[in-house]
Amino acid sequence: MAWKTLDDMDLNKKRVLVRVDINVPMENGEVTDATRIERIVPTVDHIQHAGGTVILMAHYGRPKGKVVPEMSLEHIAGTVAEVLGWPVVWANSDYRDAVKELEGDEILLLENLRFNPGEESNDPAFAKRLASLADIYVNDAFSAAHRAHASTEAIAHLLPACAGRLMQEELSALENALETPKRPVTAVVGGAKVSTKLDLLGNLVAKVDNLVIGGGMANTFLAAQSKDVGKSLCEHDLADTAREIMTKAEAAGCTILLPTDVVVAREFKAGAANEVVSADACPADAMILDAGPAAVAAINAALEASETLVWNGPLGAFEIEPFDAATNAAAAKAAALSKAGRLTSVAGGGDTVAALNKAGAADDFTYISTAGGAFLEWLEGKDLPGVAALKG
Ligand code: ADP
Ligand code: MG
Repeated sequence: MAWKTLDDMDLNKKRVLVRVDINVPMENGEVTDATRIERIVPTVDHIQHAGGTVILMAHYGRPKGKVVPEMSLEHIAGTVAEVLGWPVVWANSDYRDAVKELEGDEILLLENLRFNPGEESNDPAFAKRLASLADIYVNDAFSAAHRAHASTEAIAHLLPACAGRLMQEELSALENALETPKRPVTAVVGGAKVSTKLDLLGNLVAKVDNLVIGGGMANTFLAAQSKDVGKSLCEHDLADTAREIMTKAEAAGCTILLPTDVVVAREFKAGAANEVVSADACPADAMILDAGPAAVAAINAALEASETLVWNGPLGAFEIEPFDAATNAAAAKAAALSKAGRLTSVAGGGDTVAALNKAGAADDFTYISTAGGAFLEWLEGKDLPGVAALKG
């Protein structure tokens, strides 16, 4: 591992600046889901118990470099204290005085970093100001690691730096899934469009043994094989790109699994009349909304034979029943294999977490990343600035 963890740091009597993601949903001034705060507990507890003083820094919303009172972290300081179980003091922009006044076990929560334009511009001066508050820097916000901001990038070069527990857990899960995985590795990539996942597909075909393509994006691949996809969501102009990906996969020894049968309907709505047809027999006036049972059987067989799974994107229009069937069935299979210790499964991305939760499968996956953008960029094989900076 090229990055340090809390175990490598002497935290006793040190001020520790911890970048966290506590961008929690709020309604009428109340936090409606405190999951993101719960997930930083291990890092905060470790530092506090090791005799360090925690200074939390985070962003909230998109204030774009200006003070937007509704986006002040003062509003969630109470919830942060409750969830963490430590006294929390909120600091406006007079960080220095607030640090000096800290007493006993108190944790300091700095005001929304993005109120300062220097945060998003990765301004060295702002990073220096933050760094001057502490002795050690800890990044526990993997979900913000794809952005080169003052609190994720510049600052890591100014203080002894390490990954927090959540960052450590996330990086380990991702490394186990793609950098040093047990083979065979299967990737399931679904979702709406090929165009948003070109880099991801290009990176994965070079790294995995099987690539299952599902969802709307499978239609583009079927069309590229001269199959009629009727009125399906399909990017016909990407036929050449789809063929290039298939050629690249073949050269890399990656088997692409496209659906051999599909569920078609005339209407995009819950309970719409539907039928299962062969993947080359979509009626001209119908659209493909899910993978069929034979396709699911082939995916499940691939999962049975795999050691590792990386999953991003649903296999069908999972929000409307019964077009969630393929996603649910494959998710249940992956969950069961993971629970039995036969599969290491890592999933993440925008709608993926919702789809796996809806399938009731998320709990049994080995790891579910809640970091949308950062997870996708990592699947694309990109260097995440916040992670790269931790490597020194
Ligand atoms: P993710 O956010 O998981 O990376 P996307 O945002 O690319 O994935 O795609 C998710 C969306 O794709 C869902 O809203 C789903 O309904 C839609 N989708 C999946 N399969 C189809 C299909 N065959 N036709 C139309 N929409 C589909
Ligand atoms: Mg999405």
